[in-house]
Amino acid sequence: MEKYSPQSIEKKWQSKWLAENVYKTEMDPEKPKYYSLEMFPYPSGNLHMGHVRNYSIGDVLARYKTMEGFNVIHPMGFDAFGMPAENAAIKHGVKPSDWTYSNMDNMKRQQREMGLSYDWDRAVATCSPDYYRWTQWLFQLFYKRGLAYKKKAYVNWCETCGTVLANEQVIEGKCWRCDSDVVKKDLSQWFLKITDYADVLLKDLDLLKGWPERVKIMQENWIGRSEGLEFSLDVPELGEKIAAYTTRPDTVYGITFLALAAEHPLIERICQNNPKAEEIRAFCKKAQNQSEMERTSSESEKEGIFTGLYAINPFNGNKVEIWVTNYVLAEYGTGAVIGVPSEDQRDWMFATKYNLNIIITLQPKDRELKLEEMTEAYVDKAGVLVNSAEFSGMDIKAAMKGIMDKAEAEGFGKRRVNYRLRDWLISRQRYWGAPIPVIYCPDCGEQLVPEDQLPVMLPEDVKFEQGAVSPLAQSESFVNCTCPKCGKPARRETDTMDTFICSSWYYLRYTDPHNDKLPFDKDKVNYWAPVDQYIGGIEHAILHLLYSRFFTKVLRDAGMVDFSEPFTNLLTQGMVLKDGSKMSKSKGNVVSPEEIIAQYGADTARLFILFAAPVDRDLDWSDEGVAGASRFLKRVWRIMETFEAQIKAGQDEYDVSSLTEEEKELRRVLHTTIKKVTEDIRDRFMFNTAISSIMELVNAFYAFQNSETINGNLVREVSVAIIKLLAPFAPHITEELWSILIGEGSVHQQKWPECDEAATVKAEVQIVLQINGKVRDRIMIATGISREEMEVAAKANACVQELTAGKTIVKMICVPDKLVNIVVK
Ligand SMILES: [Zn+2]
Ligand SMILES: [Zn+2]
Repeated sequence: MEKYSPQSIEKKWQSKWLAENVYKTEMDPEKPKYYSLEMFPYPSGNLHMGHVRNYSIGDVLARYKTMEGFNVIHPMGFDAFGMPAENAAIKHGVKPSDWTYSNMDNMKRQQREMGLSYDWDRAVATCSPDYYRWTQWLFQLFYKRGLAYKKKAYVNWCETCGTVLANEQVIEGKCWRCDSDVVKKDLSQWFLKITDYADVLLKDLDLLKGWPERVKIMQENWIGRSEGLEFSLDVPELGEKIAAYTTRPDTVYGITFLALAAEHPLIERICQNNPKAEEIRAFCKKAQNQSEMERTSSESEKEGIFTGLYAINPFNGNKVEIWVTNYVLAEYGTGAVIGVPSEDQRDWMFATKYNLNIIITLQPKDRELKLEEMTEAYVDKAGVLVNSAEFSGMDIKAAMKGIMDKAEAEGFGKRRVNYRLRDWLISRQRYWGAPIPVIYCPDCGEQLVPEDQLPVMLPEDVKFEQGAVSPLAQSESFVNCTCPKCGKPARRETDTMDTFICSSWYYLRYTDPHNDKLPFDKDKVNYWAPVDQYIGGIEHAILHLLYSRFFTKVLRDAGMVDFSEPFTNLLTQGMVLKDGSKMSKSKGNVVSPEEIIAQYGADTARLFILFAAPVDRDLDWSDEGVAGASRFLKRVWRIMETFEAQIKAGQDEYDVSSLTEEEKELRRVLHTTIKKVTEDIRDRFMFNTAISSIMELVNAFYAFQNSETINGNLVREVSVAIIKLLAPFAPHITEELWSILIGEGSVHQQKWPECDEAATVKAEVQIVLQINGKVRDRIMIATGISREEMEVAAKANACVQELTAGKTIVKMICVPDKLVNIVVK
């Protein structure tokens, strides 16, 4: 055998796998399927270590499941629309498509160099017309089902990106992409009606047994279901009503003011003939320019302005002041919030700041609250109602029911379930996305582009300039069209879709990527999907993972798929850190996958990244660790080289009873390892401990490296198993060893090794138990166990227990595999 040379071995097998298309998968209803999927990347141009980690995990599963006899689908593609391509066009004058496709080519090459077992025939790129045709088709499906609509609303606007954002894309008041502050703008935009599915998206979280609890909790909080009362308060001076929603109907007798959002639809009416109109308008404008974070965070200053108008509390007829505030947002609830300072800390702070009235309506059972002694709101949900008419004296639960019954009976209120989740804003004023397939006709109004005219292609005659709005709107050839209904001149919609739409269904397209009649064939999608194991970063916990669940449910209701959840199991891998922080260009702590591959090979990179930490934890990069992984692979190579002749000559079937005790012990380690590695991969994703068991097995094998008499059949059995167990982690070196030493087919198509349970039982030996040097009993213990384990076994013996009862054990002398002498007094 030649010296281990990862670079030449890896290149050789990669071209062979590619040429022979060995990872191509076809539907086979006779075989159980397994769908292993890593989140597809944005084509930024280069893979980083986070990608390497993500893909290595998915590849281990795909290869392992193949060896276990599953028909495995393991596809890859690109989430290829998005802003960076457009920014590159503005900066460097390169076409977004050219920039994107050349980045994809580079990343595909890097993925091949990682030795990943993708079926490239299934690859998709969301920016390709044969993909976005179906994205548009699906938009129209949603439209026809009443789930896509256009409305004017206060929406999130990122000045830096020059486009609107969905609520999910505003992270702590900032843009998810560029971290700029997000402001509100009143615009007419397209929405998908995800709120219609709020209840089922929440309920079905229970089906997701294979998802991390943390992700489910994040989705649950995002959906934010609450039960409460919606009721209306008259505003006699305007002849209007204002609706308010509360989850604490028991507090309604304590209302002293009503807080409106700066965007509340009644603001203009309030300003009419109002001496404070200018002041109110200025206040609203200022609030609208504050970020959501500034307005709602518990630390930020709550501000307001009294409108001079009053609303009537329908429960007791009290006049309550109407204020416009910066902390109420239009899109939550009704945009009007009741102010109950005695029982809500935010209201307390607001009321004391502006000197508003406070009424105590709840008294704790163990003490009496006095207004003049209170320094904060009483927020505990326990006590007895006071100052609450017929509900005084009741506990909270009884009062809630009674008060809601009263509102419903008297017709001014209704029980209502409320969600924090809002409809998904999907229009973007950008070029590099799927055009929304809608036409506006002056006579016929909003019309869908006929199906046979899809895709609505992105035009080429577009200029990209800094600060320019909506590039599509500037393309005459794109905008001007004819109405599909009356044939007269019409205009095209110039917004494109949020790229999160493209990624909400790509995993379904993989099952039938070349279909030009439909997004996918029903039989194919139902054979391959749902995804059995999905792997990606925790940052997608709400955005992509919630949107994909929504899409799947709509497609199920449309009869296109038979399942209701897209991802049966989810694994969120940890980050790759260096010197304690995330690798990033700005920190200058980036290690590029290409460097590591050039120096050590892809097998080493994969092995290190899977060995260095449990998959769901953050991993600290270590050059030492990489070198260690490389040394281990060389060790595997050398031991196989040492035993080359025995491995080749050995028999697969042989009589194990003829093995010596030492050989039996090696075989015991082998089968214990097979069992552990199998369980670690299959049940726990504990790839790091699986690899460390293989390392221990290799060490045990090394104890025989100078043995000239070791049983050749055992050598073959151990070697074959090591190659197979290591194959999912280090696919190239194992393929090479397999071809040199075993020679039939590819190791990746072999059957996964099976554990021989009988071989895992440790040999036993009889030892003597003595007390003060006198033999008292004999017991059987496993050979080679530690002194501590021997002591435990001795103390557990009934005879020893009887004879040492009430005495003090001074010390215990253990002679391994022979005796334990207990000295007592
Ligand atoms: Zn932005
Ligand atoms: Zn028309």
